[in-house]
Amino acid sequence: MSVSKQMDKMRSESNNITHNQDSIFDIIIAGAGCAGLSLLYGILKATELSHLRILVIDKSLQKSNDRTWCFWETEKGPYESIVCKQWNTISIHKNSFSKQLDTAPFVYKMIHGLDFYDFVMDFAKKSPNVFWQNAVISSIETENDKAVVYWEGGSAKASKVFSSILPIDALYTISQSATTKPFLWQHFKGVLVQFNVPVFNANVATLMDFNVNQNGATAFMYVLPLNENKALVEYTLFSNSLLKPKEYDVEIATYLAKNFANDPYQILHDEIGAIPMTMQSFAKSSNPIYVIGTLGNAVKSSTGYAFHFIQEQVKQIVADLINRSPIQTEIHKTRHQFYDAVLLYILHNNLMEGSEIFKRIFEKNKAATIFKFLSNTSNLWEDISIMRSLPTKIFLPAAIKVLFRRD
Ligand SMILES: Cc1cc2nc3c(=O)[nH]c(=O)nc-3n(C[C@H](O)[C@H](O)[C@H](O)COP(=O)(O)OP(=O)(O)OC[C@H]3O[C@@H](n4cnc5c(N)ncnc54)[C@H](O)[C@@H]3O)c2cc1C
Repeated sequence: MSVSKQMDKMRSESNNITHNQDSIFDIIIAGAGCAGLSLLYGILKATELSHLRILVIDKSLQKSNDRTWCFWETEKGPYESIVCKQWNTISIHKNSFSKQLDTAPFVYKMIHGLDFYDFVMDFAKKSPNVFWQNAVISSIETENDKAVVYWEGGSAKASKVFSSILPIDALYTISQSATTKPFLWQHFKGVLVQFNVPVFNANVATLMDFNVNQNGATAFMYVLPLNENKALVEYTLFSNSLLKPKEYDVEIATYLAKNFANDPYQILHDEIGAIPMTMQSFAKSSNPIYVIGTLGNAVKSSTGYAFHFIQEQVKQIVADLINRSPIQTEIHKTRHQFYDAVLLYILHNNLMEGSEIFKRIFEKNKAATIFKFLSNTSNLWEDISIMRSLPTKIFLPAAIKVLFRRD
């Protein structure tokens, strides 16, 4: 039996909620993905919260390697031990423009989804206060001052529920609905390719190579080399509608053929995803039910990056739990939200090509300034430096439109 299978078996044998157990918890975590498990880990690491009884519910506690997370940070983070690769240089390409940028003081890091799930679940298994329920949640309701989570054949009550169960089908409906707030999908398919010969520069992560079919959208190849022979190659688009899986495959195959013409390769793994890019909020937190992760608007709407913001959201929630203060789940509440809205407005209305916007930003700024800007931590001078890279005649009217928009 593999280590991960053994872990699944142990997980299912230990701490499963049973009928004769008191089923009132301090906290229920509804959805054990990135946000749910990050929150679980954050709570378990806080000794002040060690008394809390926590139930974790997910429709599939048998996790697979369904995604790869990349993010940047300046220091060692809580998941340092499972970072599988990191880069100090990134690159961007558009036609004849090609630039490599030193990321210092940031490091661009990668974590495999399954390593993260196993890491947190393994750690949580050591706690007698964590209980697990494999079930499809049908609803979460408020009953007096408690929240009740229902699934087929069962329910559980808690003082607080943190939910990240995103009704993705409902999102597709929202994305088509008429609203003044733009909605784009960041959608992609990635393949882990292994060449027989060394073809990649393992020290450089290609953040955006726009020399691909734009498909009437903003499209780029994202190439993350794990070593000289192996890389995750993702065809990514910002657009209104998704492609068929085969269409992403064609673009990836064309890209690999164009860049590595005579070198045979194998596909070891693939992943597919669609991340909402919008200023619309999907749900609001209200005691005792709090929304986190993508459901809780942790995604940066102009880029689709969420891992870092989920960690920020978790830090805020854990601090509020420790201080017994009202729980805040909102994290994008700075002027950067306004910049996101302007960029989305421009992309949504095709006022300027996304490839040209990103090219200009990377051409004229240091990676550190861009990373700070995209992490919502840049100061006003750094914001101005980014804005000066972009044409005022397009961005100023768009900013005014967004500022005076009424929803
Ligand atoms: C393939 C992919 C790659 C990504 N890469 C990056 C990246 O590199 N960097 C970055 O910053 N962001 C990335 N993102 C965006 C974001 O970080 C992830 O989507 C992240 O997983 C969001 O966390 P979450 O907890 O909100 O959702 P999820 O991780 O999807 O967790 C939701 C959980 O809820 C469970 N669930 C759903 N419905 C129910 C139900 N009814 N009952 C019970 N359980 C339910 C699901 O099984 C799942 O475990 C990526 C997204 C995808 C899809």
